[in-house]
Amino acid sequence: MERRKFLKNSSLSAAGLVSAAALTSCNTEPKPINADISTPNPIKPIVVCTWNFFNATNKAWEVLNSGGNALDAVEQGVMVEEADETNETVGKGGRPDRDGNVTLDACIMDKDGNCGSVVCMQNIVHPVSVARKVMEETPHIILAGKGAEKFAYEQGFKKEDLLTESTRKQYEEWLKTSKYETTINIENHDTIGMLAIDENGDIAGACTTSGMAYKVAGRVGDSPIIGAGLFVDNEVGGATATGVGEEVIRTVGSFLIVELMRQGKSPQEACEEGVKRIMKKNEGRKDFQIGFLAINKNGETGGYCVHPGFTYREYSENGHVNREVTSFYE
Ligand code: ASP
Repeated sequence: MERRKFLKNSSLSAAGLVSAAALTSCNTEPKPINADISTPNPIKPIVVCTWNFFNATNKAWEVLNSGGNALDAVEQGVMVEEADETNETVGKGGRPDRDGNVTLDACIMDKDGNCGSVVCMQNIVHPVSVARKVMEETPHIILAGKGAEKFAYEQGFKKEDLLTESTRKQYEEWLKTSKYETTINIENHDTIGMLAIDENGDIAGACTTSGMAYKVAGRVGDSPIIGAGLFVDNEVGGATATGVGEEVIRTVGSFLIVELMRQGKSPQEACEEGVKRIMKKNEGRKDFQIGFLAINKNGETGGYCVHPGFTYREYSENGHVNREVTSFYE
């Protein structure tokens, strides 16, 4: 800024020898990356997650508030939902695929850009923790299906039936018609994507889901795909998604949002642009929901969705709140 003022003033003092065009070019020199991102008083620690997951954010806040790091906070936070059998799109109690198998997807990403992911994994309640083991104990990023499950047992995870009384009954009911739709109910998604900043100002994120109910066996959505369902860049911020994963993957949604923030957009503006990019590829289509959530390095948050109904939960020193977000369609 000072340099720009200096250039402008010295140009003016050159007795009008400089054209207006040259002045303009002095004023539009490229902004340094992150120019608008850091402020003297960032909000930290802070945690946000998709939907109104009170218990999960409480758990993450507990970790952050006692000086824990963002990575532990997001892992332990989303584990609450993975263990909650009444949440029928995450972990134990998640709805099965069309063959009756519960297959889970999850990923995790830390401040250094390290990440781990498991896709289409059965019989393990906490895929996010297996994803963390992939990140920390292997040279790989993604493990799939049987390989991921075998790795989990090697790491000491226990085998458990993920189908519950309730999801078994619902599946049997579904079998009567076997109606397969790739669309997701507009009001009811429970995939949890969580982003946290710890007291050191470091960012981490996690995302975990059982994916679309009655999906084709082997289907993997956006949630465990780094860049699509989750992305973190410690210089800029993080983003995560819920909704029809295929559409999020097509625009590499979370990466796009983080990059938009890097270019100076607020989390809110970046999420809006993310949804607009998706809608551009789906002109006039109204039968699906996507919700994006983002946080920047300052602890500013934002969210946007296709249809009304998406909310995100936020917990910081300022208290906790369930934020309703604006939407593409009214
Ligand atoms: N994004 C998840 C998927 O496509 C589903 C959801 O968020 O409801 O697998």
